[in-house]
Amino acid sequence: MGEETIFDRIIAGEIPADIVYRDERAVAFRDVNPQAPVHLLVVPVRPLAGLQVAEEGDADLLGHLMCVAAKVAAQEGLAESGYRCVINAGPDGGQEVPHLHIHLLGGRALGWPPG
Ligand code: AMP
Repeated sequence: MGEETIFDRIIAGEIPADIVYRDERAVAFRDVNPQAPVHLLVVPVRPLAGLQVAEEGDADLLGHLMCVAAKVAAQEGLAESGYRCVINAGPDGGQEVPHLHIHLLGGRALGWPPG
């Protein structure tokens, strides 16, 4: 558990978001400041603060989030063109919201390495 974040409020329906997928353990919605034609965030309903605090007991949940990312990528028509999944973890990783999230980016060719 961590502090309540803006993502908890989106999951609870307290603030609006363009939600494209929801199940009992995960929610996916469009990033408000998209960095690619498709930019979704896949988040756990349970407020895990980040990958840097994940434990072995979170393995099922982390696997589920990756499967949801693949599912919504296919839903967005990205399965063949490809896409990137990114988890920013901690200050040097550029994490701003302390609620674990997978960035799913696609719809254009993405540069490497990231900045
Ligand atoms: P990170 O820097 O990895 O923590 O990413 C946080 C992401 O959350 C950024 O890409 C923001 O644009 C996005 N974000 C922040 N607030 C919202 C919001 N209300 N709805 C959708 N995305 C948001």
